[in-house]
Amino acid sequence: MGLKKRSLWYAFIQAKCPHCHHGNMFINKNPYNLKNMSEMHLNCRVCGISFFPETGFYWGSMYMSYVITVFFSVINVVLIGVLSHWNLYALVIGNALLLAVGFPLFFRYARVIWLQINMPFNAEVSKKFDV
Ligand SMILES: [Zn+2]
Repeated sequence: MGLKKRSLWYAFIQAKCPHCHHGNMFINKNPYNLKNMSEMHLNCRVCGISFFPETGFYWGSMYMSYVITVFFSVINVVLIGVLSHWNLYALVIGNALLLAVGFPLFFRYARVIWLQINMPFNAEVSKKFDV
């Protein structure tokens, strides 16, 4: 199943520019390349809009990170709890593993969500850069 090009879901999952849905937000597409996991382009390479609209802009993404982390932790703890009959060691180790393994994705998608909330999609600009 292919994602519809230029859709919000496509831009979200692929971490594309929320303004045009074409340019990549992050320099390295692989979030598990931990050396440059957080490095972003300053501007969209396609439409040119700034990914850093103001100083400290991404402090706000910590709220998104918190929401994502709590959401997946609750699901994870309930799943492990049911499977392990609420063994405390299994719960603590299981959730620590989720947080360690999921961190690069949680970090990136917190920024993607934060930028998508604060930057509206522009269909005109997006159409201009369609291939
Ligand atoms: Zn763009």
